[in-house]
Amino acid sequence: MREKITAGNWKMNLSWEEANNLANQLAKQPKNVEELIVVFSPNIYLKSLIEAYGDHLIIGAQNGYSEDSGAFTGEVSFKQLRELEVKHVLIGHSERRDLFHETDLLLKKKVSKAVELGFTIYFCCGEHLEERDADLHFSVIEKQLNNSLFHLSEAQFKQVVIAYEPVWAIGTGKTASTEQAEEMHAFIRSLLQKKYSEKVAVSTSILYGGSCKASNAQDLFSQPNIDGGLIGGASLQCADFSAIIEAQKIA
Ligand code: PEP
Repeated sequence: MREKITAGNWKMNLSWEEANNLANQLAKQPKNVEELIVVFSPNIYLKSLIEAYGDHLIIGAQNGYSEDSGAFTGEVSFKQLRELEVKHVLIGHSERRDLFHETDLLLKKKVSKAVELGFTIYFCCGEHLEERDADLHFSVIEKQLNNSLFHLSEAQFKQVVIAYEPVWAIGTGKTASTEQAEEMHAFIRSLLQKKYSEKVAVSTSILYGGSCKASNAQDLFSQPNIDGGLIGGASLQCADFSAIIEAQKIA
């Protein structure tokens, strides 16, 4: 059966001292063997966090570049991340798509390279508010998955986690209702079934992201097709993130 996952996306937040303290507190928490806890840290902290807490906590990267090396000023390749023992990476977060103009084609290249190098990828997809208002949300998600993810083989799909993150819910305090989130997760699972197989559909974890917090996490996580959360703002404080981890245990 698929894994339950609670993942924190720290984005470009936290001083080194804050990041170290937070990871230290999270690493000490009692574990539920059925739930994976992941934090996606700024690259600059990855090496130190993995060395200190890698046995207790999964530390992932928020991005990577598809070329192995070369004249790509400011980028960090998946190959370089692997040298730091990073094994989990976000790809296609809406902030990368919208602020840094990452296209479906670039994301496809990133997906291929990261999977080739053995990463578990957390592929983010999500529609903008005007697309939902125009009733285009299902076709937008289908297009994002078709264009950047569905070139992988069934065997490669073992390395994939999907995060559905409606862009209008990210950092806005507006969460998708449990019905809206469950409906989209069920739709994504039906696409996996159509494109791949029943096996891929039932074994791929699909996370919800977008203003998920302690007060709504349990409702979201108890939906049949929601396997956990990708958490932004509420992952920056140990108490908030721990409460979401707890919600997953009882959902
Ligand atoms: C995110 O950035 O992936 C996210 C879900 O952010 P927030 O929880 O703050 O909406």
